[in-house]
Amino acid sequence: MTDRPHLAGRDRLYLDGGWVAPAGADAIEVTDPTTEEVIGTVPAGGPADVDAAVAAARAAFEPWASLAPAQRAEHLSRLLAALSARADVVATTVARELGTPLKVAERVQAGLPLVVLRSYVTLAATVDATETVRNSLVVREPVGVVAAITPWNYPLHQIVAKVGAALAAGCTVVVKPAELTPLTAYLLFDAAHEAGLPPGVLNLVTGTGPVVGAALAAHPDVDMVSFTGSTATGAQISRAAADRIARVALELGGKSANVILDDADLTAAVKVGVGNCLLNSGQTCTAWTRMLVHRSRYDEAVALAAAAASGYRLGDPFDDATRLGPLVSAGQRERVRGYLAKGVADGARVVTGGLDADVPSTGYFVAPTVLADVEPDSVVAQEEIFGPVLSVIAYDDEDEAVAIANNSRYGLAGAVWSGDPDRALRVARRLRTGAVDINGAAFNPLAPFGGYKQSGLGRELGAHGLAEFQQLKAIQQ
Ligand code: NAD
Repeated sequence: MTDRPHLAGRDRLYLDGGWVAPAGADAIEVTDPTTEEVIGTVPAGGPADVDAAVAAARAAFEPWASLAPAQRAEHLSRLLAALSARADVVATTVARELGTPLKVAERVQAGLPLVVLRSYVTLAATVDATETVRNSLVVREPVGVVAAITPWNYPLHQIVAKVGAALAAGCTVVVKPAELTPLTAYLLFDAAHEAGLPPGVLNLVTGTGPVVGAALAAHPDVDMVSFTGSTATGAQISRAAADRIARVALELGGKSANVILDDADLTAAVKVGVGNCLLNSGQTCTAWTRMLVHRSRYDEAVALAAAAASGYRLGDPFDDATRLGPLVSAGQRERVRGYLAKGVADGARVVTGGLDADVPSTGYFVAPTVLADVEPDSVVAQEEIFGPVLSVIAYDDEDEAVAIANNSRYGLAGAVWSGDPDRALRVARRLRTGAVDINGAAFNPLAPFGGYKQSGLGRELGAHGLAEFQQLKAIQQ
């Protein structure tokens, strides 16, 4: 067991290069989902704080945009060094305020943002690439002031994916982190302060979505809103931005299918599939929450999935034996429990886990759950549960597998498993999603990341993610 670190709340916002008291006195409590204790509070900012942050970002925009790309890369490199020095405290902070097991938090929650930021240190030097189209010189310019509104499930990664790309492109940013996990966001601003980013380039306003998030989305001086979160909130943000034709980038929900073809290595496919679905207690937008298995191997797959899922030990994120922590909040736990009840009422069979399984009495825990005999049109197969719940669905042939996989309003990620690489690629091409992994291929932090259908608009990560924060100008000569 690693010691549970002491964490304190914060009482400042980060505006114009300094720590500033918020205009009002309202605060938001941050709770440890394992102990159910309040860790501390952060400011609940208001419209005046949003105005101050946007004004600072606007004033900083011209000087930042006109730096040479290599100079911006230098700044990002210093930010990366300052953030790297905080990797341990990022991991423990995420383990406390979100509940990710410490080992996973170190690798994914603290490690991935560093990989992403490093990629933008490199890509920052490439942003002024031009192209010639007949008599036109096509140049790339930054969009302007960006509002970054982020969720709680990967609290640093979601921010860094936006901030790294936006700053590299020459934009300035106001960050509004999720109210459930703001303490992790503060660590990025500690790093930015230490790295000496020019004042106003990166600003932090904590607060609620309907107040701070909505004020940013509707702000006349915000040129672009880059949002990650639920599809319902994404639609609200789009509507607010539409009034002034502001650009939006939306990374939204998912209900991804893991298509296991009849010639696949079933043992590997199920094991990796269960791990993917349960990562971060199932609170991952790309989670393969629907496992599609050929009817001839269905019973075998269900048994393998149940054995794998029941091996995920629930517990304290700071206990080395823990593989699954709690859900982030009591509200999220109730939501997931509601879906489990609905699934059973609709005829799904609980193979392991479920509402009656043993879980620690303190903390917002839900047992890893495998549901069999799930109908493709049922609520648990259609809606994003955002908990440790896998639905196993049978199909009869490849066409039906593709049809079930595509029978979703979402289209974020997915997987195909087959012993035949050509067949796997053919099926991958037929899935209407922004990403597909074949036979458990590694995550690529430089590949474009984003959704088809109601999973979003635009792409994050790598060069495509950077291009979201640029606009094109054609100069005829
Ligand atoms: P959410 O939409 O409730 O909140 C996301 C952010 O938006 C938070 O900062 C919140 O305060 C803010 N917000 C809420 N209402 C707002 C409003 N009216 N105007 C402006 N901002 C507002 O989502 P959540 O519950 O924090 O996150 C879970 C959801 O996010 C899931 O649906 C998940 O799939 C999705 N998600 C998607 C991705 C992706 O990359 N596609 C990644 C992570 C999470």
